[in-house]
Formats: sequence, structure tokens, C-alpha cells
Amino acid sequence: MPLTAAQQTRLRDDLRGLIDGDVRCDEVTQQLYATDAGILQSRPVCVVCPRNIDDVAAVVKYAAEEKIPLHSRGAGTSLTGESLGNGIVIVFSRYMRCILNVGDDTVTVQPGLLRRRLNGVLGKSKRRLFGPLAGNPSSTSLGSILARNGAGLHYLRYGLPSDHLVSLTVVLANGDVITLDRNALPQPPPQPLEGGKSVALAHAIAFGKEYLYAGETAHVLRNRTREQLLESAKQLPVNRAGYAEHAVLQGESEHGVDLARLFAGSEGTLGLTVAATLKTFSQPQRKSAVAFFFRSVFSAIEAVDGIMSRSTSPMLRPVLCELIDRRRLNMVRDWDAHYRPLIPAEAEAALLVELDAGTLEEPMSRNDCRDQLGHLIDLVQTKKQLCFYALRVNTDEDFELFDQVIRRSELVLGRMHRSIQPVPLFDDVAVPINTLNAVIHELLALFQRYEITASLSGHAGQGHLRIHPLLDFAQPDTMPMLRPLAEYVYSIVLQHGGTISSEWGTGLLKSQFLPLQFPHLISLFRDIKATFDPQHLLNPGRVILEETHWTAHLRHGLEKRGQTPPFLSELSDSQFMRQSRKEHLPNQVEIQLKWDPSFVFESAHRCNGCGECLRYDRRSRICPLSRGTPTIEYLPRAKADLLRGILERDIDLETLTGGRAKEIADTCYHCRMCDIECPSKVDVALLAFRSKAAYVAAHGLPLEDLMTSRLDTILNFLMPASWLLNAAMRNRVLRWFLEKTLRIPQSRIMPTLMHLSYLNRIRWSALRHRLLPDQTDKTRVALFVDTFANYFDPQLAELAVQILEYNGFSVHVPLRQRASGRGSFLVGHADRADRLARHNIAQMSELIRLGYKIVTIEPYSASCLTKDYRHLINDAESELIAENVVDFCSFLLQCYWAGKLREDFQPVSCRVGYHAPCSALAMSASLATDATPAEQLLRLIPDLDVQRVERGCCGMAGLWGFLQKNYRQSVQIGIPLFRALRRAEIDFGVSDCNSCCSQMTHGTRKRAVHPIRLLAIAYGFQE
Ligand SMILES: Cc1cc2nc3c(=O)[nH]c(=O)nc-3n(C[C@H](O)[C@H](O)[C@H](O)COP(=O)(O)OP(=O)(O)OC[C@H]3O[C@@H](n4cnc5c(N)ncnc54)[C@H](O)[C@@H]3O)c2cc1C
Ligand code: SF4
Ligand code: SF4
Repeated sequence: MPLTAAQQTRLRDDLRGLIDGDVRCDEVTQQLYATDAGILQSRPVCVVCPRNIDDVAAVVKYAAEEKIPLHSRGAGTSLTGESLGNGIVIVFSRYMRCILNVGDDTVTVQPGLLRRRLNGVLGKSKRRLFGPLAGNPSSTSLGSILARNGAGLHYLRYGLPSDHLVSLTVVLANGDVITLDRNALPQPPPQPLEGGKSVALAHAIAFGKEYLYAGETAHVLRNRTREQLLESAKQLPVNRAGYAEHAVLQGESEHGVDLARLFAGSEGTLGLTVAATLKTFSQPQRKSAVAFFFRSVFSAIEAVDGIMSRSTSPMLRPVLCELIDRRRLNMVRDWDAHYRPLIPAEAEAALLVELDAGTLEEPMSRNDCRDQLGHLIDLVQTKKQLCFYALRVNTDEDFELFDQVIRRSELVLGRMHRSIQPVPLFDDVAVPINTLNAVIHELLALFQRYEITASLSGHAGQGHLRIHPLLDFAQPDTMPMLRPLAEYVYSIVLQHGGTISSEWGTGLLKSQFLPLQFPHLISLFRDIKATFDPQHLLNPGRVILEETHWTAHLRHGLEKRGQTPPFLSELSDSQFMRQSRKEHLPNQVEIQLKWDPSFVFESAHRCNGCGECLRYDRRSRICPLSRGTPTIEYLPRAKADLLRGILERDIDLETLTGGRAKEIADTCYHCRMCDIECPSKVDVALLAFRSKAAYVAAHGLPLEDLMTSRLDTILNFLMPASWLLNAAMRNRVLRWFLEKTLRIPQSRIMPTLMHLSYLNRIRWSALRHRLLPDQTDKTRVALFVDTFANYFDPQLAELAVQILEYNGFSVHVPLRQRASGRGSFLVGHADRADRLARHNIAQMSELIRLGYKIVTIEPYSASCLTKDYRHLINDAESELIAENVVDFCSFLLQCYWAGKLREDFQPVSCRVGYHAPCSALAMSASLATDATPAEQLLRLIPDLDVQRVERGCCGMAGLWGFLQKNYRQSVQIGIPLFRALRRAEIDFGVSDCNSCCSQMTHGTRKRAVHPIRLLAIAYGFQE
């Protein structure tokens, strides 16, 4: 829906005048909302974030007058382009995400609330939950759960979302707001109303508008033909294609009209949900589950038939039955070492089965659960001899791993290499269970004919299959193959009485195939749509196909994954610069982009929009900044979307130097948690750095950022006057002055600057020998000190050296080392980051060739040297550094594992609260709750009670929290950690990152120290 600039400005101004919520029409915002988690792309003309129902109604009325399509959106993580479109996108997840009321067994919510958040609150306060889940558990909004009404993962336990819907408030296409209460269904007249608008108005006033819509719908449905009724009756219980017309007319005489049931699953095409009341459940007991491993996928399917057929096993009550194939199992094993002992390498397929164990109020007895499980294992393993291994799941930890395997098996294909794409075209079909085997045989034969490989999984217990052909979009024959392939797959599914969708609905991808499944009902669907949305403005192209083929909306650059973008690769560097200059691009932008553009391109394209970065739970830390502010700009995926848009030329290159791009890039504080938590391994920190660098190149650095980047130089300069600076830091008036001039936050406790840096100190001291490469045959270690220890805590570096020497290492402190440059990476000061990286690489690589291992005091420095340098410089030397740099605690732990660590520790009797820095987790590729090397090391000290305090990021992120502009947010992020540390029984805090220690002290007034100090005490070097 292309609009001129003037039209767009008018649209924006009109809407801003009408509503309280946000209205944005800029290029960058359009780009951020142009994709979801699938393979389609469509750029909206405007994005609106309403604050309340009035806002929604006003936008809908305006759109109806101006004939602009509307697309409702929750978290935007659908796979079929459901929330995409070129009209106005209405985003519910920004403001309309509240719990409005919690009753004993119901809850009233706004549509943008994430299911995960709702259940977090209900679980804590009432030990209840909203059960059904059809969608990505990390990011699914309740509006979308109702709009799709899919069967989903928990169907066997809870049924469909609409089974738990008490009432629904919707805004219709003309702006009418109606509430559909399922306990009081409207009873419309047996015949359509006659007498024109005045009669309708009179009825609406007397009985409510619901009455009128119920009457019109009943009229459409009562005219169903015999063929339509037959088609309707043949539907699978888990069918989600088309409208649920069969469930609308209720009661003995079919006079009650259940419009809420019709709206559930209508994919936002009949109205926009603005509030819903849902039934809640007592939390289930989870006591018995088992993972079966099979040598063939057909044995697994045979087992499904046995498990689900009640006649064979009347005792069994499965509430979950998931199939995972070999490809996914192997990728899950490779993802995380935790799974290796659990998943046998020879397994061709696995079935994860959970059995009913009752609810919290009515738990099944332990004996009954044990018997049930024994019976199930007996059936599958002993009697039918289908599986070769059965793994019982008993404890809470086992259940957590069980859930993770299911979860990761869904996400894992995003990790596939480069141009190979899992296409979400067939991963939501369902067939009767007894036909599963035949369907899979036929599908595999089809894929063999097309010479493609596919991955297979699904909620097998309800006949659901996720079929993922792995297609290489770089091949010219891939695109033309898609449509015939889809038709073959669907014809196999439909021949066996199945459905083309059991969870997602048809969306943009599948609506064109709906007539294959419902040749007669499709006209009825059109009549229903016309009743509620005669202008076809609500989510057009979904359910009722009326637009161009979806291949016209393919995500840009899909076919180029794995290649260098042509507009960069076709030109040599110098040509590129000339060409760019011709186009009047800011010179500096090109220079920033010139660094290995293919890496940036590949990384930006890796993001598939899966929404895993919206995951806010105990085991996750991804993007601490986005937790308080759930706008799309804060999400890691926004950084990828922005750069992809620029590299694909969907938006101008100059945009990168604009304030909006900077705003987005600045929401990344380089913690690198997405390195391990993003399933697709998108290097978001790097993408954000590139964006910031382009901005800096065009506009220069503001004072605050310049100070951050050049902190080491400034400290060097200030050291002689350290006494004056330290005194100033204690003086309230001077602190106020420093805040106003140098943007140093008044309230922040600042570390004390030394008058002599560590490197200067050893340069002239008796420790001089540490500067010289050692000639003995001891294992050689070079210590990388970095800014904090060098200028603020030289004793820490000294203790590190002492500990290493005590353990028999020959320690060398390279005097010409410079700061790692983490401040420069943080603010996007690329030139300086580049200079520092090249300098340090030259210094360190020489030492590595002499046999030295480089040990950094903090994991943050190690992360900078290994990851950031490699991406920035990308040559053999930086690879060498990446392989040979390790942080202090990891190094000592490796020594311990190799039996080389001295363990003559003295007891240290105290209780410490250990906080794991994000960089330590990211470096050791651990989950948030896993023990870091520092934690494991501290546990070796006798009598030291180490309490892990896992409350997410501390909010400091190196220097980020020291900046005045970030101070408030930094403290807010740290509050859960402060609360836990303030507990009386914790004597003091410990963290292997000095800025984390500084934040912990700041937030609790309890001292926090580096583990080196505790190790030094345990070795007797310090009191
Ligand atoms: C890794 C991964 C795994 C997934 N696994 C599954 C799965 O197992 N099962 C499954 O079903 N899906 C799955 N999905 C798809 C996705 O999770 C679901 O589509 C989910 O419901 C999307 O939620 P959302 O809030 O992002 O919705 P959106 O993408 O924002 O919207 C989804 C639909 O709901 C409509 N909608 C949203 N809010 C409203 C409203 N207020 N009023 C009317 N209509 C509205 C939109 O118009 C759109 O049609 C998966 C996705 C990913 C990335
Ligand atoms: S950044 Fe990673 S986690 Fe976030 S949407 Fe993209 S792929 Fe998913
Ligand atoms: S590096 Fe950290 S702050 Fe940046 S996007 Fe990733 S998780 Fe968020």
C-alpha cells in the first residue's frame, strides 16, 4: 500500500490526533515490523501501539473510513506471516499487556500479555495457570493464542484454548466494541430482521449489538448446504484451518449463537481482541514421564499408536507425546553438552511421553504413577519391543531437561548452516493417528522423488506432524519447486482425512490451499467474513485468499543466505568506496561497513525472528535491557532486522547514521548473552557495534562516549592528581558539578584511582623480571591486566600473579599491553577499537608463539580479546589469540581438572553470595543457572559457603552503568540481585567481574570482591 510522503505524514498526524498510544511511520519502524519468524516480509505503512480499547476503536474507525488494511500483532513470532501486511499494524504487546482481574478460577487479560508472564504471576500468587499452549512458549501472546486457537503442545491435557474462554471483548471492523459472554449466549430471531437500519438500531439499543451480529451469523449458518454440513462433520478435532462454523450454533434448538467460539481461531480477520476472560487450572503434578529411543521412526510411530489407543492400555493417561527425529536429536546433543549422556547417538527417533499425575489439589498417588509408568515402559519396550532404550524422568531437574529437549528440538533448525532453510510450509499438519505410518511412508517417498531431505517431529499423540524439508534457497530450482511440493504434501495429508493446519491457522502461507481442504465450506467462510468485515480490511489474505501469491512476499535476501551480498561483493573495496561516493553516501559509513560485510550480512540473516530473546525466565538472561521495556527496539532481533534492511537496500544506507538507528543500537550493552542464548547464534553485539560505529563515523562521539572509549588514556593522565580526583568524588558539590559537566552520575560509588598504575608500578619495581620472557621450562603464562586492575586495583593483579606463580607457572606481564577496548566496543568507537585490537594482537600473538597462554583477570576482557577482536580483524593472528586467551578462573579450573592446581587451601569461614557475570556465562557457553568456572573454583575452598545468587544481570555491563544516561536503568536491572544479596546471612558478595562487584557494592553497601582475593586468602597470601 504505497503512500506518498505527504499522505504518510497526514496519516501519522491524523492518528496521533486520535489516540493516546504511539504512532510511527518512519522507515526504521516499518522495517522492524516487516517480518515475523517465518520466511515472508511485508512492510507496514504505519505502526500503532494502542494504550486502551478506545485507541483501538479509533484506529479501526479511521482505517475503515480511509480503507486502509489493519493487521493485529502480539509478539510478531508467527511462522506464516500472520501478523504482516502493508497497512496499519496494531501492536498489542507494547501497552495492552496487563492482567485486569484474577478470580478464583478465571483471569481477565489484555491481548498483548505473554502467556509465559501470565503463568508466572498466576503460578506465584495462586499456583494456577492458563493451560493451552499452541505457540512458541517464550513469546506467544494471549491475543494470538485466541486468534489461532491451535491444539498445541498441551492439547492432550487441556484441549483447545477456546475450551477455556469465558468471554471475549472485540473491536469489529466498523469500530463497534462488543463483549461476547459465553455464559449468556444471545438468542437471535429465527428470521433475519426486516425494516432496515432503524429496526436494527432499535434492536441494538434494546438487546445490544451482539444480538444483531448473532442474528446475521445464525442466518448465514442456517443456510448451510448438505455438502457443507458433511465437510464440517468430517473435520478432525484438532483442525485449525478455516472458521469454526461447526461450533457456533449452540443449545438444543441451536438458538444460542456462540460468537466467541467463531472469533477464536479467526486469525484476526473478523475482529480485534481487546480483552478476554479465561478459565485457569490448578498447576499439574508432574511425576511420571519417559523418553523412549528408537532405531527407526516407524517403530516410534507404532509406539504412538499403542500408547494412545486406550483399548490396549486402559491404565495409561498420556498428557503429552512428542516425536523427535534423528536430525533434531543430534543437533540438540551438539547444542549443549548436558544432553550428550541423555540422548543415545544411535537413536533414529525419540518419543517423549508424560503421563497424568493429577493436579496439586488432587494428585495421583506415588504408587499409581509408578504403576502407570511401569505399564507404559513394559508396553513399549518389553511387550512390543519397539524401543532400544527408555529413560525415566523423575526429579524436577529431570523434568527441566525433558522440557528443554522438547523446546530445543523446535528451535534447533535455526542453527543450521547458512543457505539451508527449514521452510515453515508443512510443519503444522495433522492426520488421524492410525494413518501416521502410511502418511510418513508416502511423504518420505515424495521427498526422495524430489531429492530433498526433511526433518520430522510433532505432537504425535494428537496426530500432529512438523515436516521440515531442508531447502537451499540459493539453488535456482528451489522456489519453483515450492508450490507443487506443497500441493503434493497436502494432498497426501487430506487423502488420509487430515488437515493442513492443526495449530497456526492458514495465515498468509496456506490460505491459498484452503479450498483443497474445504471445497464447499470456502464460500461459507467468505459469507462469514463479509458479515463482520465487508470491506476486507482486517488481516486481508488470511483464511480468505484475495491477494497475490505468498511467494511475492518472500523475505528479502532469503535466496542470498550464505553468499556475500552482491552490492558488496561485486565491488572491490576501493570500487565500493568510489561507487558509494557517487551515491553521495557519507564517506565514513562505507568505511565502517567495509569491514567484512559478508559476516555482518550472514549474521543479520541468521536471525529468523524466533522470539527466543523475549524469554524471561530463571534460566535465561538474554537481553537484560529489554526486560523492563518490551518494545521491539530493545530486542536483539531489532538490531538484526535493521541491518538486514540496510544490506538488502530495503532502507537507505544513510538511515544507519540517523538517530533512530542509533537509538536501536544503543539498547545493546554488549553483554554477549545472546551469543549463547540465541538459538540461531546471531552475533547481535557485533551488529549493534557496526550500527553504532556507522553513527559515530558520521557524527563523532559525544563527550560521555568519548570518555568511555578513552577511559584508560584519561586515567593515565589523571593518575598524578588521583588524590584530588578521589577527594572530588567524595564531595557532594563537586559530584554535582561533575554530573553536570562530565556526566558522571552523582549517586554512583566510584572506585578509588591509584596514583601509580600496576603496569607502571612493575615497570620500575623489583618485579621487573615479570616483564621479561621466562627462559625456564615452567608453563608460561602472560597476564592481561586491563583497565580496572591496572588503575584501580593493582593489588588484584599482584595477587593473580602470586597465585599463578604459587601453582608453578612462569608469569610474564607484557608491559606494552593496552586496554582491551571494551569501552570502545560499547560505544561504537571503531577506529580506536581497531587500533587497540591490532596493538594487543601483535603483542599477544608474539608471546603465544613463544609458548605463552594469555590469562585475563576478568572474563569480560577475555571475551573482548577472543570474540570482538576476531570479528573486527578477522585474520590468522586474531584466530590465534581467540584460541589462546582464557580468563583467570577458567584457567585455574582447567589446571584443577588436569590435577595441576595446588589444593592446600586454608579454611575460609564465611558465607558469600556469588553473582555470575554475563561475560563469564557467555565465555563458558553456560546457561544462566550453570556453575561458572569461578563458582566451581570457590567451592574448592574449605568452609567457604558459596551461595549462588542467580537474579539475572547486575545491570552494570562494564562501563555502561557508569554513564549518567544509563544510571537509573542500570540500578533497576540490578534490584533483584541487590535484594537477594542484602539477605542477612550473606557476609559479602563475590563476582569475577570488577564492574559487577562495583555494582553489587553500590546496590547493597556490602563489599563485593573478585574470587582472586578469596583464593589468595585461602592460599595464605592475605589475611
Ligand atoms: C521457534 C518457534 C516455535 C513455534 N512453535 C509453535 C508451536 O509449537 N505451535 C504453534 O501453534 N505455533 C508455534 N509457533 C508460532 C508462534 O509461536 C505462534 O504463532 C504464536 O502464537 C505467535 O504469537 P505472537 O504473539 O507472536 O503472535 P503474532 O505473530 O503477533 O500474531 C499471531 C496471529 O494472531 C493475531 N492476533 C494477535 N493479537 C491479536 C488480537 N489482539 N486480536 C486479533 N488477532 C490477534 C495476528 O493478527 C496473527 O494472525 C512457533 C514459533 C516459533 C518461532
Ligand atoms: S536474535 Fe536470536 S533469539 Fe532473537 S529473534 Fe533473532 S534468532 Fe531469535
Ligand atoms: S549482547 Fe546483551 S545487550 Fe546486546 S543484544 Fe545481546 S543480550 Fe542484549
